[in-house]
Amino acid sequence: MTEGAPTGQVRRRRFLAGLSLFTVGGVAGTAVGYAAEQANAAESPTARTEILNSPRAYEATVTWRTEPSARVIALTIDDGPTREWTPQVLAILRNHGASATFFIVGARAEGDPGALARAADEGHELANHTWLHSDLTQHDQSFDAESLERTHDLIAGQTGRAPTLCRPPYGRIDSVGLSVCAEMHYRVMLWSNHVTGSDAAGPMSPRPSTALPSLTTATSRLAQV
Ligand SMILES: [Zn+2]
Repeated sequence: MTEGAPTGQVRRRRFLAGLSLFTVGGVAGTAVGYAAEQANAAESPTARTEILNSPRAYEATVTWRTEPSARVIALTIDDGPTREWTPQVLAILRNHGASATFFIVGARAEGDPGALARAADEGHELANHTWLHSDLTQHDQSFDAESLERTHDLIAGQTGRAPTLCRPPYGRIDSVGLSVCAEMHYRVMLWSNHVTGSDAAGPMSPRPSTALPSLTTATSRLAQV
């Protein structure tokens, strides 16, 4: 925590850190990522405070569900691209005239040149899911920033469009990751319903976030100087 920070900012930051913990606790158990590393819950995600290195005001908004007036959903597909699955997903979306947001693992995209451009050309959004599917709460600010910036640059370079959204692997993010996302002007997108490979053919099941009917977004004002 920054020395001498006004009390109001400190209080707000603590409050929003609590929201993050609740969200992460609610969704982490349902998250399935490709395990470049294992999620490690030994350290509380809110144990750290952000390191402020920007003189300007910035904030991060975390969304885990929205309440659109129309009956619509947002499809998001994580952890790709893969040579096996991404073409199949693109074909399904094309057949249904549907668009989706792909949360990209940078290292995988680097190994499959052209995959992101194909998805972008077909009208899909590409967004940031870190370089190696890293748990952002288990690394320092410079690691988190490099992971997200490297992925950001790859997506922008391969598609010509800079991503604007980040999804933290395992749904885990704390004030350090939030501050990095804020500096990159990212919105942090979680999820309200999770379908895995094993239950994709079955009905969509209620998830813990449905216990938060009125809580859809939280904006964390990390610093205002
Ligand atoms: Zn993931």
